[in-house]
Amino acid sequence: MQDKMQVFSDDKEYVASTYARFNVAFEKGEGSRLYDIDGKEYIDCTTGIGVNIFGVCDEVWKQAVIAQLNKIQHTSNLYYSLPQAELAKLLCEKTGAKKVFFGNSGAEANECAIKAARKYGNTKYGRNEIITLKDSFHGRTIATLSATGQDAFHKYFDPFLAGFKYADPDMDGILRCYTDKTCAVMIECIQGESGVHVLDGEFLKELEKFCKQRDILLICDEVQCGNGRTGKLYAYENFGIHPDIVTTAKGLGGGLPIGACMMFEKCADTFTYGDHGSTFGGNPVACAGAVSIIERITDELLLEVQGKGAYLKAHIGRIKGVKAVTGMGLMIGIQTDKPAREIAQSCLEKGLIVLTAHDRVRLLPPLNISKDEMEQAIKILNEVIGK
Ligand SMILES: *Cc1c(COP(=O)(O)O)cnc(C)c1O
Repeated sequence: MQDKMQVFSDDKEYVASTYARFNVAFEKGEGSRLYDIDGKEYIDCTTGIGVNIFGVCDEVWKQAVIAQLNKIQHTSNLYYSLPQAELAKLLCEKTGAKKVFFGNSGAEANECAIKAARKYGNTKYGRNEIITLKDSFHGRTIATLSATGQDAFHKYFDPFLAGFKYADPDMDGILRCYTDKTCAVMIECIQGESGVHVLDGEFLKELEKFCKQRDILLICDEVQCGNGRTGKLYAYENFGIHPDIVTTAKGLGGGLPIGACMMFEKCADTFTYGDHGSTFGGNPVACAGAVSIIERITDELLLEVQGKGAYLKAHIGRIKGVKAVTGMGLMIGIQTDKPAREIAQSCLEKGLIVLTAHDRVRLLPPLNISKDEMEQAIKILNEVIGK
């Protein structure tokens, strides 16, 4: 057996200290169950952070990845790639998008959206400002940090990129930030990192209309809430709006790094040769896995996700000490009086892993989590929060 203490101390000594890690090292897993290096079992309500969308070692995804790995692991984007074309076509057919650019992460998908919006605005009207929302999260690169409307992330890293304004999530807020330079509004329909806040449906409808009337691009950051997570393939579908750009990552790759920026009708032809690129973007292995993921997010599966989400929300809502349960489908935020990190730590000790998001506990379980596993999760949450 590996020496756990050695792993912890090597990590502390040699890995940059950007993460406040819990004292666990997971070794393997199956579906919604993980095992640490001592062999202790856990129910997984994190999927990484919304990444392992069909759980760990999912057979269908694994076979798709292995089959591609046995053919070729990488080709540069100077040549055509079968898995990349296949994934782009599938995403366009399922969403109505016209063109897809592939990167390797959520931040890169958003960088692409920012570049597309600026080029669209600059070339058509000389506009280049983007409105984002307070409490948003769009990534850790300088551009996506600049887009992120949370002061906590902005300490130490100035100067930031000019051209971003942070609006309150209502039309008055948007109007206060709007100028004749506004080229796009970027939103998360469900704000994940700041605590699983679902934006108001009326606001989203009004925002869509506002943007359409002024030829301002509406960008939905679906890095976390996309790919079936909320009970729709993409979360904006819950609100009946039609964005011009949708970015996604996390769950799309089923565990391998990939990011996608989907461009709809208006800006499908904004980019031309040389405007953007990525060495690793759209890696064939990641794309082959992603094809297998998107193919399985059927209407039937989405109904199951809705049902499981409703089940979890109802049961968690009844736990003593729970003040609010937010979110949609299997993207759930839990508000209590206790510090979220303490709850996460106690759950971990009892064999349940959960995430935190700002002051809330956050659940992002695999879409194929079983009833039995959900019951176990509820039981542990009850023991930790309810006492
Ligand atoms: C996680 C996340 C990102 C950043 O994705 P990375 O893959 O970590 O770069 C961007 N936007 C949202 C909404 C996210 O949840």
